[in-house]
Amino acid sequence: MTDPTRTPRRKPKPEVTRIGGRQLKPSTLMMGYGYDPRLSEGALKPPIFLTSTFAFESAAAGKRHFEGITGKRPGGSEGLVYSRFNGPNQEILEDRLAVWEQAEEALVFSSGMSAIATLLLAYCSGGDVVVHSGPLYAATEGFIARTLSRFGIGYVDFPAGATREEIDAALARGAELAQRQGGKVAMIYLESPANPTNALVDIEAVAAARDTLPGEARPPIVIDNTFLGPLWQQPLAHGADIAVYSLTKYAGGHSDLVAGGLYGARQWIEPVRMLRNTIGTICDPNTAWMLLRSLETIELRMTRAGENAAKVCAFLAGHPKVVGLGYLGRIEDPRQQDIFERHCTGAGSTFSLFIEGGEAEAFRFLDALKVAKLAVSLGGTETLASHPAAMTHLSVPDERKALLGITDNLVRISIGIEDADDLIADFDQALAAV
Ligand SMILES: *Cc1c(COP(=O)(O)O)cnc(C)c1O
Repeated sequence: MTDPTRTPRRKPKPEVTRIGGRQLKPSTLMMGYGYDPRLSEGALKPPIFLTSTFAFESAAAGKRHFEGITGKRPGGSEGLVYSRFNGPNQEILEDRLAVWEQAEEALVFSSGMSAIATLLLAYCSGGDVVVHSGPLYAATEGFIARTLSRFGIGYVDFPAGATREEIDAALARGAELAQRQGGKVAMIYLESPANPTNALVDIEAVAAARDTLPGEARPPIVIDNTFLGPLWQQPLAHGADIAVYSLTKYAGGHSDLVAGGLYGARQWIEPVRMLRNTIGTICDPNTAWMLLRSLETIELRMTRAGENAAKVCAFLAGHPKVVGLGYLGRIEDPRQQDIFERHCTGAGSTFSLFIEGGEAEAFRFLDALKVAKLAVSLGGTETLASHPAAMTHLSVPDERKALLGITDNLVRISIGIEDADDLIADFDQALAAV
């Protein structure tokens, strides 16, 4: 959680985070934390601050702010300066996001991909290597393989479910490549569960492997926590240094905005803040305000979606036209189950459904759905269904698709917060149409 004793970036404000010895829960803090109505005419909710720049109290105050912005003094700006750097709505949002994982600092971005791109660019120089789990979100994998490679940055990957030995081997391969290229392993980048396979990465094993490296060669461990965060997986507690999010998904939760975020200890976040200041990948005040509203209900929404997914999957698992289910509530592999029990507190609401047949059968199922909408994305209030092989992963070469288990009979489903029995009735009639 943001340290209330540190130099504040905004005007100091009283924060109620405890009652007696009791630490208030994130779900309680989402209603008011980080915002003082007295600074905004008593408005119960923060106004949307539509301004490109902020008036300084004095010339000396302006100088102090710029010392923070330019990194002459650590910790960012002490006050509001210019809307490419910071703004009240964005700072309140960052404080509230950090609460979920007791992170020291959080940053918000205009999209999940602008968060990921800013992060990678902040950490990687020519010759460096990114060691990453696979598969990653397609745009992330593309950014590393096709864009960073143009600047002489290499990568080495390992399968999401890798054992400690396989992770050690990947780190060794990464170090070898980095040495050949005259750089270092700049980052270990994970995504768990992987999309669309739902394979989990053993974050604790990755952290243990990284910690055997000599001090100066220890890269930060980053994890894309979009699928299970912040409710069902809190990776900073398991050894990750930075958690990144597409806030477009569960955090936004209503399929009506695009945004990204990341958080961790200040030492890891500061270089990313500096680059965000320079290139302006911060999210806009309106989107930040929408996210503040969304965060008030995030626990309710995710809890309901998770309960719905468990009921729907119990139905699907017993259906004769369903030949497989990639759902974290029904893991068959003992090692994956062990990772799940150590890292996750819920199975989420996004899963893969394998229908008897191939693309034709999967398409008939998708076209017959009445409640669930046919769209990519996830984590919204409404249930969505899509076909990865023909949509999100269309550009993945066939051999790699086969390796990742992205088959033509695979349908990807994100369960929303509708009535569970209505969803079951919808899937039942759509399967009958196959
Ligand atoms: C959607 C998504 C992203 C990209 O986020 P945008 O907000 O669409 O830029 C990154 N990672 C994962 C796992 C995602 O699902």
